[in-house]
Amino acid sequence: MSKRHSNRSLSEDNSLFQDIQRGVNHLKSCPQCSQEYKQQQFDVLFVRGNVRVVHILCDVCQHKIVTLLATTPFGMSSLGVATDLSADDFLRTAHLDPIGEDDVLEFHTFLYKHHKAFVNLLSK
Ligand SMILES: [Zn+2]
Repeated sequence: MSKRHSNRSLSEDNSLFQDIQRGVNHLKSCPQCSQEYKQQQFDVLFVRGNVRVVHILCDVCQHKIVTLLATTPFGMSSLGVATDLSADDFLRTAHLDPIGEDDVLEFHTFLYKHHKAFVNLLSK
């Protein structure tokens, strides 16, 4: 389980968590196991103006969601996706370029040339 960073946890921002609980029904509980979320399960990863990128980890089933949360004069809206990345993994990889076709072909060529060494490396 990823280590929580108190500086980005909503535990410091009571009103935002309450706004989320009031305004965004699908962020009240885990879609996988229906366990109600607690404030400390929300990690704010980025803030850009009125948009936050929030990582939510269910303490019961470990289901993870990354959601864009926008606060507008008309209320809150969000767009989320399930992820297998921890909050720390998300922050570590967010600035990297996406994997392209050339990267996949290059990796295929690498495996083709070095498959025995690669299998040995994995079996250690
Ligand atoms: Zn869950």
